[in-house]
Amino acid sequence: MTERVIPLADHRYLASLPAIPAILAAPTGVLLDRLQRPLHDLRISVTDRCNFRCSYCMPKEIFDKQYGFLPQSSLLSFEEIARLAALFVAHGVRKIRLTGGEPLLRRDLERLVALLAELRTAFGDPLDLTLTTNGSILAKKAESLKRAGLGRITVSLDALDDRIFRRMNDADFPVAEVLAGIDAAERAGLGPIKVNMVVKRGTNDQEIVPMARHFRGRNVALRFIEYMDVGETNGWRMDDVLPSAEVIARLGEAFALEPVPVTTVGETAERWRYAEAGVAGEIGTISSVTKAFCHDCNRARLSTEGKLFLCLFASRGHDLRGLLRGGASDAEIAAAIGLVWQGRDDRYSELRGQGVAAGTGERRVEMHYIGG
Ligand code: SF4
Repeated sequence: MTERVIPLADHRYLASLPAIPAILAAPTGVLLDRLQRPLHDLRISVTDRCNFRCSYCMPKEIFDKQYGFLPQSSLLSFEEIARLAALFVAHGVRKIRLTGGEPLLRRDLERLVALLAELRTAFGDPLDLTLTTNGSILAKKAESLKRAGLGRITVSLDALDDRIFRRMNDADFPVAEVLAGIDAAERAGLGPIKVNMVVKRGTNDQEIVPMARHFRGRNVALRFIEYMDVGETNGWRMDDVLPSAEVIARLGEAFALEPVPVTTVGETAERWRYAEAGVAGEIGTISSVTKAFCHDCNRARLSTEGKLFLCLFASRGHDLRGLLRGGASDAEIAAAIGLVWQGRDDRYSELRGQGVAAGTGERRVEMHYIGG
């Protein structure tokens, strides 16, 4: 494994050029890591830019006008993304989530969606192709994304109250436009829609019940996400975390809820439905801090310029773009991906929960760079 000199544009995170094994074992559609977790989900960040400045992800005082976002030349092209995605799919990926930054800011994203929609899993099925957006331009894009082949969509929405929402996105962006985006996505058939709310105690937790009331009765899964210590810039404190157990207790006072059994391995959310007959909609909690789910984490992350990260809290990536642009063949890159995943033993949240110092002590990657 060789340590590479990283050009200035990508000076943020260490990445090494993955070794290409001597024997190029062909992908079999099943790839296990050291904790026997199969590779299943791939999250692809298509841009490190965003038009919001949510304090838990891209605080404005750091990601300001002087911040050096990645130049276009260092981003993977759509063809490079599709080529890598096909290799991950051959290894067993069945779900691809497009993320960012804000993915809808990447021009002509529909073209990438169409390339990915052509892929078939190792077992011949269509991929579960989804995308996470802040919803700011979704109203304009929902139809064209659906036509291009997008299956589902997740919208981040941290409050219904316009004043609180504008304060949380720190870009003075009105909540009405995001709500219009969710409606447009529903009309376009991008459902069941997931709506993610990051809950920060003392900042927006008073919005928990109003959010549930707003989406109750609609084909929407509303998930409450515990505020996480991702990256190094959001000033995370445990005091600002509202444990999911408290979220469900509050909702339980307002609505009759019943648990929904787990349906897929690697599901991050615990789910509830409304007990009242005929009421559509779901509630979920994603509890990375108080109830870690690393034991069946089957997610790989590809950064905007082609670094493979094995955990949301990782510090080091594996430079697949270097192999791509260095002339490596598909068989060589696939074998290198296989070797990297087989060496994976990440379980940051689990260790954090056990009070064990997790990670390498090096700077953790920022969420806007590899997608949440
Ligand atoms: S902390 Fe890392 S290993 Fe654990 S669930 Fe999150 S991404 Fe997966």
